[in-house]
Amino acid sequence: MQGLMMDTPLLISSLIQHAERHHGDTEIVSRLVEGGIHRYDYRGAHRRARKLANALGALGVEKSDRIGTLAWNGFRHLEAFYGISGMGAVMHTINPRLFPEQITYIVNHAEDSYVLFDLTFAPLIEKLAPMCKSVKGWIVMTDRAHMPQAGIPNLLCYEDLVNAQPDDYEWPELDERTASSLCYTSGTTGNPKGVLYSHRSTVLHAYAAALPDALNISSRDVMLPVVPMFHANAWALPYSCALVGTKMVLPGYQLDGKSLFELFETERVTVSAGVPTVWLALLQHMSQNKLKFSTMNRTVIGGSACPPAMIRSFQEDFGVQVLHAWGMTEMSPLGTVSTFKSKHLDLPKDSKLAIQSKQGRSIFGVDLKIVDDAGKELPWDGKAFGNLLVRGPWISNGYFKGEGGDPLRKDEKGRDWFPTGDVATIDPDGYMQITDRSKDVIKSGGEWISSIDLENAAVAHPAVAEAAVIGIRHPKWDERPLLLVVKKKDTQVTREELLKFFEGKVAKWSMPDDVVFVEQLPHTATGKLLKTKLREDFKDYKLPTA
Ligand code: AMP
Repeated sequence: MQGLMMDTPLLISSLIQHAERHHGDTEIVSRLVEGGIHRYDYRGAHRRARKLANALGALGVEKSDRIGTLAWNGFRHLEAFYGISGMGAVMHTINPRLFPEQITYIVNHAEDSYVLFDLTFAPLIEKLAPMCKSVKGWIVMTDRAHMPQAGIPNLLCYEDLVNAQPDDYEWPELDERTASSLCYTSGTTGNPKGVLYSHRSTVLHAYAAALPDALNISSRDVMLPVVPMFHANAWALPYSCALVGTKMVLPGYQLDGKSLFELFETERVTVSAGVPTVWLALLQHMSQNKLKFSTMNRTVIGGSACPPAMIRSFQEDFGVQVLHAWGMTEMSPLGTVSTFKSKHLDLPKDSKLAIQSKQGRSIFGVDLKIVDDAGKELPWDGKAFGNLLVRGPWISNGYFKGEGGDPLRKDEKGRDWFPTGDVATIDPDGYMQITDRSKDVIKSGGEWISSIDLENAAVAHPAVAEAAVIGIRHPKWDERPLLLVVKKKDTQVTREELLKFFEGKVAKWSMPDDVVFVEQLPHTATGKLLKTKLREDFKDYKLPTA
Protein backbone atom coordinates (compact mmCIF):
# COMPACT_ATOMS: atom_id res chain seq x y z
CA MET A 1 0.00 0.00 0.00
CA GLN A 2 1.31 3.41 -0.92
CA GLY A 3 1.07 6.40 1.40
CA LEU A 4 -1.32 9.16 0.54
CA MET A 5 1.10 12.04 0.42
CA MET A 6 1.76 14.60 -2.29
CA ASP A 7 4.69 13.86 -4.50
CA THR A 8 6.01 17.42 -4.87
CA PRO A 9 9.58 17.31 -6.17
CA LEU A 10 12.49 18.55 -4.04
CA LEU A 11 13.85 21.42 -6.14
CA ILE A 12 16.56 24.00 -5.64
CA SER A 13 14.19 26.72 -6.91
CA SER A 14 11.89 25.96 -3.97
CA LEU A 15 14.66 26.97 -1.55
CA ILE A 16 14.97 30.49 -2.91
CA GLN A 17 11.18 30.79 -3.31
CA HIS A 18 10.78 29.89 0.34
CA ALA A 19 13.54 32.31 1.37
CA GLU A 20 11.85 35.14 -0.51
CA ARG A 21 8.39 34.41 0.87
CA HIS A 22 9.41 33.99 4.51
CA HIS A 23 12.68 35.91 4.78
CA GLY A 24 12.30 38.38 1.93
CA ASP A 25 13.93 41.26 3.80
CA THR A 26 16.80 39.20 5.27
CA GLU A 27 20.03 40.66 3.97
CA ILE A 28 22.66 39.28 1.66
CA VAL A 29 25.81 41.37 1.91
CA SER A 30 28.74 41.05 -0.48
CA ARG A 31 32.23 42.53 -0.60
CA LEU A 32 32.63 43.33 -4.26
CA VAL A 33 35.54 42.49 -6.48
CA GLU A 34 35.06 45.99 -7.95
CA GLY A 35 35.42 47.50 -4.45
CA GLY A 36 32.82 48.46 -1.86
CA ILE A 37 29.93 46.55 -0.34
CA HIS A 38 26.70 45.45 -2.03
CA ARG A 39 23.51 44.85 -0.05
CA TYR A 40 20.17 43.42 -0.93
CA ASP A 41 17.96 40.66 0.43
CA TYR A 42 16.47 37.27 -0.45
CA ARG A 43 13.67 39.07 -2.31
CA GLY A 44 16.25 40.85 -4.48
CA ALA A 45 18.28 37.68 -4.98
CA HIS A 46 15.25 35.69 -6.08
CA ARG A 47 14.15 38.46 -8.44
CA ARG A 48 17.54 38.63 -10.11
CA ALA A 49 17.90 34.82 -10.24
CA ARG A 50 14.67 34.82 -12.29
CA LYS A 51 16.01 37.56 -14.55
CA LEU A 52 19.21 35.54 -15.00
CA ALA A 53 17.18 32.46 -15.96
CA ASN A 54 15.41 34.58 -18.60
CA ALA A 55 18.76 35.96 -19.81
CA LEU A 56 20.30 32.50 -20.17
CA GLY A 57 17.16 31.29 -21.94
CA ALA A 58 17.50 34.19 -24.37
CA LEU A 59 21.08 33.09 -25.07
CA GLY A 60 19.75 29.68 -26.02
CA VAL A 61 20.69 27.81 -22.83
CA GLU A 62 18.60 24.68 -22.48
CA LYS A 63 17.96 22.11 -19.76
CA SER A 64 21.06 20.04 -18.89
CA ASP A 65 23.45 22.56 -20.48
CA ARG A 66 26.46 23.12 -18.28
CA ILE A 67 27.21 26.70 -17.27
CA GLY A 68 30.62 27.25 -15.68
CA THR A 69 31.49 29.83 -13.02
CA LEU A 70 34.91 31.10 -12.01
CA ALA A 71 34.00 33.37 -9.16
CA TRP A 72 34.44 34.27 -5.49
CA ASN A 73 31.67 34.34 -2.91
CA GLY A 74 29.42 37.20 -3.99
CA PHE A 75 25.80 38.03 -4.73
CA ARG A 76 25.99 37.44 -8.48
CA HIS A 77 27.52 34.01 -7.88
CA LEU A 78 24.59 33.28 -5.54
CA GLU A 79 22.14 34.33 -8.25
CA ALA A 80 23.89 31.91 -10.60
CA PHE A 81 23.48 29.08 -8.06
CA TYR A 82 19.71 29.56 -8.19
CA GLY A 83 19.17 30.88 -11.71
CA ILE A 84 21.15 28.15 -13.48
CA SER A 85 20.00 25.12 -11.47
CA GLY A 86 16.47 26.50 -11.12
CA MET A 87 15.97 26.59 -14.90
CA GLY A 88 17.15 22.99 -15.24
CA ALA A 89 20.66 23.74 -16.47
CA VAL A 90 23.74 22.54 -14.56
CA MET A 91 25.66 24.99 -12.39
CA HIS A 92 29.32 24.10 -12.76
CA THR A 93 31.57 25.81 -10.20
CA ILE A 94 35.25 25.81 -11.20
CA ASN A 95 38.10 26.28 -8.74
CA PRO A 96 40.16 29.20 -10.09
CA ARG A 97 43.14 28.17 -7.98
CA LEU A 98 43.72 25.12 -10.17
CA PHE A 99 46.43 25.23 -12.82
CA PRO A 100 45.18 26.80 -16.09
CA GLU A 101 45.63 23.45 -17.89
CA GLN A 102 43.36 21.77 -15.32
CA ILE A 103 40.74 24.50 -15.72
CA THR A 104 40.81 24.08 -19.50
CA TYR A 105 40.50 20.32 -19.09
CA ILE A 106 37.52 20.74 -16.77
CA VAL A 107 35.68 23.26 -19.00
CA ASN A 108 36.19 20.97 -22.00
CA HIS A 109 35.22 17.83 -20.14
CA ALA A 110 32.05 19.46 -18.79
CA GLU A 111 31.40 21.01 -22.23
CA ASP A 112 30.37 24.28 -20.61
CA SER A 113 28.33 26.36 -23.04
CA TYR A 114 28.77 29.64 -21.15
CA VAL A 115 31.15 30.61 -18.37
CA LEU A 116 30.39 33.34 -15.83
CA PHE A 117 33.46 34.90 -14.20
CA ASP A 118 34.56 37.60 -11.78
CA LEU A 119 36.64 40.51 -13.08
CA THR A 120 39.70 39.18 -11.22
CA PHE A 121 39.85 36.30 -13.68
CA ALA A 122 39.79 38.30 -16.94
CA PRO A 123 43.54 37.74 -17.60
CA LEU A 124 43.12 34.02 -16.92
CA ILE A 125 40.09 33.75 -19.24
CA GLU A 126 41.97 35.61 -21.97
CA LYS A 127 44.59 32.85 -21.85
CA LEU A 128 42.15 29.93 -21.64
CA ALA A 129 39.41 31.03 -24.02
CA PRO A 130 41.03 29.84 -27.28
CA MET A 131 41.33 26.30 -25.84
CA CYS A 132 37.72 26.07 -24.62
CA LYS A 133 35.87 25.09 -27.77
CA SER A 134 32.44 24.43 -26.25
CA VAL A 135 32.10 27.91 -24.73
CA LYS A 136 29.81 30.14 -26.78
CA GLY A 137 30.18 33.18 -24.54
CA TRP A 138 32.15 34.45 -21.55
CA ILE A 139 29.97 36.43 -19.16
CA VAL A 140 31.83 38.80 -16.89
CA MET A 141 29.98 39.31 -13.62
CA THR A 142 30.08 43.07 -13.50
CA ASP A 143 28.38 46.17 -14.91
CA ARG A 144 29.08 48.10 -18.11
CA ALA A 145 31.29 50.63 -16.28
CA HIS A 146 33.74 47.93 -15.16
CA MET A 147 33.96 45.87 -18.35
CA PRO A 148 37.55 44.65 -18.83
CA GLN A 149 39.58 45.64 -21.88
CA ALA A 150 40.69 42.04 -22.34
CA GLY A 151 40.91 40.24 -25.66
CA ILE A 152 38.22 37.70 -24.74
CA PRO A 153 36.04 36.43 -27.61
CA ASN A 154 32.23 36.67 -27.20
CA LEU A 155 32.54 38.70 -24.03
CA LEU A 156 29.19 39.54 -22.43
CA CYS A 157 28.27 41.83 -19.54
CA TYR A 158 26.29 40.14 -16.72
CA GLU A 159 24.44 43.29 -15.65
CA ASP A 160 23.47 44.14 -19.23
CA LEU A 161 22.08 40.64 -19.73
CA VAL A 162 20.17 40.58 -16.45
CA ASN A 163 18.85 44.14 -16.69
CA ALA A 164 17.47 43.54 -20.18
CA GLN A 165 15.15 40.82 -18.87
CA PRO A 166 11.79 40.84 -17.06
CA ASP A 167 11.57 39.21 -13.64
CA ASP A 168 8.50 37.13 -14.39
CA TYR A 169 9.82 33.62 -14.74
CA GLU A 170 8.09 30.43 -13.67
CA TRP A 171 10.60 27.88 -12.36
CA PRO A 172 9.99 24.61 -14.21
CA GLU A 173 8.67 21.67 -12.19
CA LEU A 174 11.62 19.37 -12.89
CA ASP A 175 12.03 15.75 -11.96
CA GLU A 176 13.85 16.00 -8.62
CA ARG A 177 16.54 13.61 -9.87
CA THR A 178 17.54 16.12 -12.56
CA ALA A 179 21.23 17.08 -12.43
CA SER A 180 21.60 20.47 -10.75
CA SER A 181 25.27 21.14 -10.30
CA LEU A 182 28.71 19.84 -11.09
CA CYS A 183 31.91 20.14 -9.13
CA TYR A 184 35.24 18.57 -10.07
CA THR A 185 37.37 17.07 -7.34
CA SER A 186 40.89 18.37 -7.29
CA GLY A 187 42.46 14.93 -7.21
CA THR A 188 46.19 14.96 -6.65
CA THR A 189 46.70 12.27 -9.28
CA GLY A 190 44.92 11.60 -12.55
CA ASN A 191 42.37 13.86 -14.18
CA PRO A 192 39.85 15.79 -12.10
CA LYS A 193 36.55 13.94 -11.80
CA GLY A 194 33.11 15.57 -11.94
CA VAL A 195 30.67 15.07 -9.07
CA LEU A 196 27.15 15.62 -10.40
CA TYR A 197 24.57 16.60 -7.78
CA SER A 198 20.81 16.41 -8.25
CA HIS A 199 18.02 18.69 -7.01
CA ARG A 200 16.88 15.95 -4.67
CA SER A 201 20.33 15.29 -3.19
CA THR A 202 20.94 19.02 -2.75
CA VAL A 203 17.67 19.75 -0.94
CA LEU A 204 17.93 16.70 1.34
CA HIS A 205 21.51 17.62 2.19
CA ALA A 206 20.49 21.23 2.86
CA TYR A 207 17.91 20.03 5.41
CA ALA A 208 20.33 17.73 7.19
CA ALA A 209 23.20 20.22 7.21
CA ALA A 210 21.11 22.92 8.90
CA LEU A 211 20.09 20.74 11.88
CA PRO A 212 21.13 21.70 15.43
CA ASP A 213 23.64 18.84 15.76
CA ALA A 214 25.04 19.63 12.30
CA LEU A 215 25.84 23.21 11.25
CA ASN A 216 23.12 24.54 13.53
CA ILE A 217 22.07 27.61 11.55
CA SER A 218 18.81 29.51 11.80
CA SER A 219 17.04 32.71 10.77
CA ARG A 220 18.62 34.39 13.82
CA ASP A 221 22.14 33.81 12.50
CA VAL A 222 24.47 35.76 10.29
CA MET A 223 26.66 33.36 8.30
CA LEU A 224 29.89 34.34 6.60
CA PRO A 225 31.09 31.39 4.51
CA VAL A 226 34.84 31.79 4.10
CA VAL A 227 34.85 28.47 2.27
CA PRO A 228 34.56 29.39 -1.41
CA MET A 229 31.48 28.59 -3.46
CA PHE A 230 33.78 26.58 -5.76
CA HIS A 231 34.76 24.24 -2.89
CA ALA A 232 31.86 21.77 -2.75
CA ASN A 233 29.35 24.63 -3.20
CA ALA A 234 30.68 26.44 -0.10
CA TRP A 235 29.76 23.28 1.80
CA ALA A 236 26.22 23.81 0.48
CA LEU A 237 25.69 26.86 2.71
CA PRO A 238 23.96 28.86 -0.04
CA TYR A 239 21.23 26.20 0.08
CA SER A 240 21.03 25.66 3.86
CA CYS A 241 21.02 29.40 4.54
CA ALA A 242 18.08 29.91 2.15
CA LEU A 243 16.27 26.94 3.68
CA VAL A 244 16.31 28.52 7.15
CA GLY A 245 16.56 32.20 6.16
CA THR A 246 20.04 33.01 7.47
CA LYS A 247 21.55 36.39 6.62
CA MET A 248 24.59 35.77 4.40
CA VAL A 249 27.80 37.78 4.25
CA LEU A 250 29.87 36.96 1.18
CA PRO A 251 33.51 38.05 1.50
CA GLY A 252 34.67 38.16 -2.13
CA TYR A 253 38.35 37.51 -2.66
CA GLN A 254 39.72 39.28 0.42
CA LEU A 255 40.25 36.34 2.73
CA ASP A 256 43.16 37.76 4.74
CA GLY A 257 42.77 38.07 8.52
CA LYS A 258 42.28 41.84 8.54
CA SER A 259 39.56 41.95 5.85
CA LEU A 260 37.69 39.01 7.34
CA PHE A 261 37.79 40.40 10.86
CA GLU A 262 36.45 43.73 9.65
CA LEU A 263 33.51 42.04 7.94
CA PHE A 264 32.79 39.76 10.93
CA GLU A 265 32.47 42.86 13.08
CA THR A 266 30.64 45.30 10.79
CA GLU A 267 28.04 42.74 9.71
CA ARG A 268 27.64 41.24 13.19
CA VAL A 269 28.44 37.73 11.96
CA THR A 270 27.50 34.93 14.39
CA VAL A 271 28.77 31.85 12.54
CA SER A 272 31.31 31.04 9.86
CA ALA A 273 32.87 28.11 8.02
CA GLY A 274 36.27 27.43 6.49
CA VAL A 275 39.40 25.28 6.27
CA PRO A 276 42.08 25.41 9.00
CA THR A 277 44.58 27.38 6.88
CA VAL A 278 42.33 30.48 6.63
CA TRP A 279 41.69 30.44 10.36
CA LEU A 280 45.41 30.34 11.00
CA ALA A 281 45.76 33.72 9.30
CA LEU A 282 42.73 35.21 11.07
CA LEU A 283 43.79 34.04 14.53
CA GLN A 284 47.33 35.35 14.00
CA HIS A 285 45.95 38.74 12.95
CA MET A 286 43.65 38.86 15.97
CA SER A 287 46.37 37.83 18.45
CA GLN A 288 48.89 40.30 17.07
CA ASN A 289 46.39 43.16 17.27
CA LYS A 290 44.72 42.04 20.52
CA LEU A 291 41.29 41.86 18.85
CA LYS A 292 38.13 40.15 20.12
CA PHE A 293 34.92 39.20 18.34
CA SER A 294 31.74 40.98 19.44
CA THR A 295 29.11 38.68 17.90
CA MET A 296 30.81 35.62 16.41
CA ASN A 297 30.09 32.61 18.61
CA ARG A 298 30.86 29.51 16.54
CA THR A 299 32.58 28.31 13.41
CA VAL A 300 32.61 25.20 11.29
CA ILE A 301 36.11 23.90 10.50
CA GLY A 302 36.71 21.11 8.01
CA GLY A 303 38.38 20.20 4.75
CA SER A 304 41.46 19.08 6.71
CA ALA A 305 41.87 17.95 10.30
CA CYS A 306 41.46 20.84 12.69
CA PRO A 307 44.34 20.71 15.19
CA PRO A 308 43.21 20.62 18.85
CA ALA A 309 45.46 23.64 19.50
CA MET A 310 43.32 25.66 17.05
CA ILE A 311 40.08 24.46 18.65
CA ARG A 312 41.42 25.45 22.08
CA SER A 313 42.55 28.87 20.89
CA PHE A 314 39.21 29.64 19.20
CA GLN A 315 37.26 28.61 22.28
CA GLU A 316 39.44 29.84 25.12
CA ASP A 317 41.07 32.93 23.62
CA PHE A 318 38.25 34.13 21.37
CA GLY A 319 35.02 32.67 22.78
CA VAL A 320 34.13 30.90 19.53
CA GLN A 321 32.86 27.32 19.66
CA VAL A 322 34.39 25.06 17.02
CA LEU A 323 32.26 22.61 15.05
CA HIS A 324 34.78 20.20 13.59
CA ALA A 325 33.26 18.70 10.45
CA TRP A 326 34.27 16.15 7.86
CA GLY A 327 33.02 15.50 4.39
CA MET A 328 34.03 15.41 0.78
CA THR A 329 32.93 16.83 -2.55
CA GLU A 330 31.43 13.43 -3.36
CA MET A 331 29.25 13.75 -0.24
CA SER A 332 27.67 17.14 -1.05
CA PRO A 333 29.87 17.51 1.19
CA LEU A 334 28.77 17.01 4.81
CA GLY A 335 29.29 13.63 6.48
CA THR A 336 30.01 14.18 10.18
CA VAL A 337 30.11 16.99 12.72
CA SER A 338 31.57 16.84 16.19
CA THR A 339 28.93 18.08 18.60
CA PHE A 340 28.44 16.96 22.20
CA LYS A 341 25.76 14.65 23.51
CA SER A 342 24.15 15.76 26.76
CA LYS A 343 26.21 13.24 28.75
CA HIS A 344 29.38 15.10 27.64
CA LEU A 345 28.35 18.55 28.79
CA ASP A 346 29.85 18.35 32.28
CA LEU A 347 33.08 16.62 31.27
CA PRO A 348 36.40 18.32 32.07
CA LYS A 349 37.71 20.72 29.43
CA ASP A 350 40.38 18.36 28.08
CA SER A 351 37.94 15.47 27.64
CA LYS A 352 35.62 17.78 25.71
CA LEU A 353 38.51 18.95 23.56
CA ALA A 354 39.34 15.30 22.77
CA ILE A 355 35.76 14.80 21.51
CA GLN A 356 35.85 17.96 19.41
CA SER A 357 39.17 16.91 17.89
CA LYS A 358 37.40 13.91 16.36
CA GLN A 359 35.57 14.53 13.09
CA GLY A 360 32.28 13.67 14.77
CA ARG A 361 29.03 11.80 14.40
CA SER A 362 27.33 11.23 11.07
CA ILE A 363 24.36 13.40 10.27
CA PHE A 364 21.13 11.55 9.50
CA GLY A 365 21.33 10.31 5.92
CA VAL A 366 25.00 9.36 6.02
CA ASP A 367 25.72 5.76 6.86
CA LEU A 368 29.34 5.07 7.86
CA LYS A 369 31.44 1.97 8.36
CA ILE A 370 35.11 1.04 8.59
CA VAL A 371 36.45 -2.10 6.93
CA ASP A 372 39.77 -3.91 6.71
CA ASP A 373 41.54 -4.52 3.40
CA ALA A 374 39.44 -7.65 2.80
CA GLY A 375 36.23 -5.60 3.20
CA LYS A 376 35.36 -7.06 6.64
CA GLU A 377 33.59 -4.56 8.90
CA LEU A 378 35.61 -3.44 11.93
CA PRO A 379 34.20 -2.72 15.40
CA TRP A 380 33.18 0.71 16.68
CA ASP A 381 35.58 0.63 19.63
CA GLY A 382 37.53 3.82 18.94
CA LYS A 383 40.67 1.73 18.42
CA ALA A 384 40.33 -0.39 15.28
CA PHE A 385 41.08 1.68 12.22
CA GLY A 386 40.19 0.88 8.66
CA ASN A 387 38.99 2.19 5.31
CA LEU A 388 36.03 4.47 5.75
CA LEU A 389 33.01 3.73 3.52
CA VAL A 390 29.82 5.77 3.24
CA ARG A 391 26.38 5.54 1.67
CA GLY A 392 23.35 7.79 1.50
CA PRO A 393 21.07 9.91 -0.68
CA TRP A 394 23.59 12.73 -1.21
CA ILE A 395 26.63 10.57 -1.88
CA SER A 396 27.95 10.05 -5.44
CA ASN A 397 27.45 6.76 -7.19
CA GLY A 398 29.79 7.58 -10.05
CA TYR A 399 31.57 10.44 -11.79
CA PHE A 400 30.42 12.57 -14.72
CA LYS A 401 30.78 10.69 -18.02
CA GLY A 402 31.93 7.60 -16.10
CA GLU A 403 35.40 9.06 -15.50
CA GLY A 404 37.58 6.73 -13.43
CA GLY A 405 35.15 3.78 -13.72
CA ASP A 406 32.75 2.57 -11.03
CA PRO A 407 33.98 3.83 -7.66
CA LEU A 408 31.49 1.83 -5.56
CA ARG A 409 31.99 -1.33 -3.53
CA LYS A 410 29.25 -3.85 -2.84
CA ASP A 411 28.69 -5.35 0.60
CA GLU A 412 27.50 -8.91 1.26
CA LYS A 413 23.87 -7.78 0.88
CA GLY A 414 24.61 -6.24 -2.51
CA ARG A 415 24.34 -2.65 -1.23
CA ASP A 416 26.64 0.00 -2.66
CA TRP A 417 29.19 1.87 -0.55
CA PHE A 418 31.44 4.73 -1.58
CA PRO A 419 35.08 4.33 -0.44
CA THR A 420 36.23 7.70 0.90
CA GLY A 421 39.98 7.02 0.70
CA ASP A 422 40.19 7.97 4.37
CA VAL A 423 41.33 5.72 7.20
CA ALA A 424 39.39 6.17 10.42
CA THR A 425 38.27 4.86 13.80
CA ILE A 426 34.70 5.01 15.11
CA ASP A 427 34.04 4.95 18.87
CA PRO A 428 31.07 3.32 20.64
CA ASP A 429 29.19 6.66 20.62
CA GLY A 430 29.61 6.88 16.85
CA TYR A 431 32.30 9.58 16.83
CA MET A 432 34.49 9.05 13.78
CA GLN A 433 38.12 10.12 13.80
CA ILE A 434 40.21 10.35 10.67
CA THR A 435 43.61 8.71 11.11
CA ASP A 436 44.81 9.84 7.70
CA ARG A 437 44.18 9.75 3.97
CA SER A 438 45.10 6.15 3.17
CA LYS A 439 47.92 7.43 0.94
CA ASP A 440 49.38 9.61 3.72
CA VAL A 441 49.49 7.11 6.55
CA ILE A 442 53.09 6.21 7.48
CA LYS A 443 53.75 2.49 7.53
CA SER A 444 56.55 1.81 9.97
CA GLY A 445 57.59 -1.76 10.79
CA GLY A 446 54.06 -3.12 10.35
CA GLU A 447 52.52 -0.33 12.48
CA TRP A 448 50.61 2.64 11.09
CA ILE A 449 51.54 6.14 12.18
CA SER A 450 48.96 8.88 11.72
CA SER A 451 50.55 11.93 10.12
CA ILE A 452 47.56 13.96 11.39
CA ASP A 453 48.33 13.02 15.03
CA LEU A 454 51.93 14.18 14.65
CA GLU A 455 50.92 17.40 12.88
CA ASN A 456 48.35 18.15 15.59
CA ALA A 457 51.01 17.62 18.26
CA ALA A 458 53.53 19.83 16.44
CA VAL A 459 51.21 22.83 15.96
CA ALA A 460 50.53 22.89 19.70
CA HIS A 461 54.10 24.24 20.09
CA PRO A 462 53.97 28.04 20.42
CA ALA A 463 56.64 28.58 17.75
CA VAL A 464 54.99 26.39 15.09
CA ALA A 465 52.68 28.04 12.54
CA GLU A 466 52.10 25.01 10.34
CA ALA A 467 53.38 21.43 10.19
CA ALA A 468 53.33 18.51 7.78
CA VAL A 469 54.49 14.97 8.36
CA ILE A 470 55.42 12.59 5.55
CA GLY A 471 56.84 9.08 5.44
CA ILE A 472 60.45 8.76 4.29
CA ARG A 473 61.86 5.46 3.11
CA HIS A 474 63.84 3.68 5.80
CA PRO A 475 66.04 0.58 5.32
CA LYS A 476 64.83 -1.10 8.48
CA TRP A 477 61.30 0.19 9.14
CA ASP A 478 60.04 0.73 5.54
CA GLU A 479 58.99 4.29 6.38
CA ARG A 480 59.65 6.73 9.19
CA PRO A 481 58.05 10.13 9.83
CA LEU A 482 59.75 13.36 8.84
CA LEU A 483 58.34 16.57 10.32
CA LEU A 484 58.34 19.72 8.18
CA VAL A 485 57.71 22.93 10.06
CA VAL A 486 56.93 26.54 9.21
CA LYS A 487 57.89 28.69 12.20
CA LYS A 488 55.71 31.56 13.40
CA LYS A 489 57.10 35.01 12.61
CA ASP A 490 59.77 36.20 15.07
CA THR A 491 59.96 32.92 17.00
CA GLN A 492 62.81 30.50 17.51
CA VAL A 493 62.79 26.77 18.10
CA THR A 494 65.39 24.09 17.42
CA ARG A 495 65.01 20.59 16.01
CA GLU A 496 65.91 19.11 19.41
CA GLU A 497 63.40 21.26 21.29
CA LEU A 498 60.65 20.24 18.91
CA LEU A 499 61.45 16.53 19.17
CA LYS A 500 61.48 16.84 22.95
CA PHE A 501 58.08 18.54 22.77
CA PHE A 502 56.60 15.30 21.37
CA GLU A 503 57.65 13.29 24.42
CA GLY A 504 54.64 12.09 26.37
CA LYS A 505 52.27 13.35 23.67
CA VAL A 506 52.63 10.51 21.16
CA ALA A 507 53.89 6.94 21.41
CA LYS A 508 57.69 6.80 21.43
CA TRP A 509 57.89 4.64 18.31
CA SER A 510 55.79 7.11 16.34
CA MET A 511 57.92 10.20 17.13
CA PRO A 512 59.34 11.90 14.01
CA ASP A 513 62.90 10.83 13.16
CA ASP A 514 63.86 14.29 11.99
CA VAL A 515 62.69 17.89 11.59
CA VAL A 516 63.20 20.21 8.62
CA PHE A 517 62.31 23.90 8.87
CA VAL A 518 60.78 25.32 5.69
CA GLU A 519 59.62 28.78 4.62
CA GLN A 520 56.22 27.54 3.53
CA LEU A 521 54.28 24.35 2.80
CA PRO A 522 52.52 23.60 -0.50
CA HIS A 523 48.71 23.47 -0.51
CA THR A 524 46.09 22.12 -2.91
CA ALA A 525 43.54 24.40 -4.55
CA THR A 526 41.22 23.78 -1.60
CA GLY A 527 43.79 24.54 1.10
CA LYS A 528 44.91 21.03 2.04
CA LEU A 529 48.58 20.13 2.53
CA LEU A 530 49.87 18.92 -0.82
CA LYS A 531 51.65 15.81 0.38
CA THR A 532 52.31 14.34 -3.05
CA LYS A 533 54.53 17.36 -3.74
CA LEU A 534 56.27 17.07 -0.35
CA ARG A 535 56.92 13.35 -0.91
CA GLU A 536 58.37 14.18 -4.34
CA ASP A 537 60.52 17.04 -2.95
CA PHE A 538 61.88 14.88 -0.12
CA LYS A 539 62.09 11.54 -1.93
CA ASP A 540 65.90 11.41 -1.61
CA TYR A 541 65.98 12.73 1.95
CA LYS A 542 68.28 10.74 4.24
CA LEU A 543 67.00 10.38 7.78
CA PRO A 544 69.67 10.47 10.53
CA THR A 545 68.28 7.14 11.76
CA ALA A 546 68.71 5.39 8.39
P1 AMP B 1 37.44 17.55 -0.79
O1 AMP B 1 36.45 16.76 -1.51
O2 AMP B 1 38.43 18.20 -1.68
O3 AMP B 1 36.86 18.52 0.18
O4 AMP B 1 38.30 16.53 0.08
C1 AMP B 1 37.72 15.60 0.95
C2 AMP B 1 38.78 15.02 1.85
O5 AMP B 1 39.28 16.04 2.72
C3 AMP B 1 38.30 13.95 2.78
O6 AMP B 1 38.21 12.69 2.14
C4 AMP B 1 39.37 13.97 3.87
O7 AMP B 1 40.54 13.30 3.47
C5 AMP B 1 39.69 15.44 3.95
N1 AMP B 1 38.96 16.06 5.06
C6 AMP B 1 37.84 16.80 4.99
N2 AMP B 1 37.49 17.21 6.23
C7 AMP B 1 38.39 16.71 7.09
C8 AMP B 1 38.58 16.77 8.51
N3 AMP B 1 37.77 17.45 9.31
N4 AMP B 1 39.63 16.10 9.03
C9 AMP B 1 40.48 15.40 8.25
N5 AMP B 1 40.35 15.32 6.91
C10 AMP B 1 39.34 15.97 6.34
